[in-house]
Amino acid sequence: MSDFPPYKSVVFLGAPGTGKGTQGKVLGALPGFVHLSTGEMFRALDPASELGREFLKYASRGELVPDAFTVFLWQEHMAKLIASKKFNPQTELLVLDGIPRNAHQATLMDDHISVLRIVHLDCPDETDLVRRLQLRAKKEGRPDDAREEVVHRRLEVYREETHPVLEHYPADLIATVNAMGTPAEVMLEVLGVLAPVHAAHFANPLTEPAAR
Ligand code: ADP
Repeated sequence: MSDFPPYKSVVFLGAPGTGKGTQGKVLGALPGFVHLSTGEMFRALDPASELGREFLKYASRGELVPDAFTVFLWQEHMAKLIASKKFNPQTELLVLDGIPRNAHQATLMDDHISVLRIVHLDCPDETDLVRRLQLRAKKEGRPDDAREEVVHRRLEVYREETHPVLEHYPADLIATVNAMGTPAEVMLEVLGVLAPVHAAHFANPLTEPAAR
C-alpha cells in the first residue's frame, strides 16, 4: 500500500444547494472518512493573494475556475493533508465534494482517484435550490450566493458542464439520492449507499489498524 494516488474515493455530484457540503461534512466526521470540498479549499485562499484573486474572479461570476489550476491546487492540497496526517489513503476513504466538475476534470482526475461510488444528489425542482441558496447567502455571506443572476449562472453551469460528468463513469457506480428530504433523511440514504462501500474496502478504524 502507498500514500500515492490513485486514492480510493467517493464523489458527491449535485447542483449548487443540493447539500453536497452538508452531507460531506457529516460523513467526514466519521472515523474512516475524510471530506474534501474544493469550494472550501478555494474559499480558504487569502483573497488578497494572486491565487485567491484568481478564484474570486471566476466564483463571483458563477463560473468554474480553470481546470488545470483547480486540479493542480487540489493535488497540492492532498499532499498537505497527507503530510499533516489529516488523510491516510491506506486506511481512509476520501469523500470528494465539488470535483470533478466537468468532463475534462473527470479525465484529469482519472490518474489521481479510484472512484468507488458516485452519489448523485438529485433535485428536479430548481426553485427549491434557488430558495436554499438565498438562505445560505444570508447565513454565510458567500459572494457567489448573493446575486440572483450569479445563482442562475451556477445552475446553468451545473446543467451544461457538471451533470454530464455522470456519463464519464460506469452507470453501476452511480447512486441517485433524492436531495429534497431533510438533511437527516438524505444522510440515511447516503449512508445506505456508502457504509457498505467503506466496509468493503477498509478495516473498521476503531478495531483494526490496516486497510483490507
Ligand atoms: P456550490 O456547489 O454550492 O456551487 P462550491 O462551494 O462547491 O459551491 O464551489 C464554489 C465555487 O468554487 C464554484 O462556483 C467555482 O467557482 C469554484 N469551484 C469549486 N470547485 C471547483 C472545481 N472543481 N472546478 C472549478 N471551479 C470550482
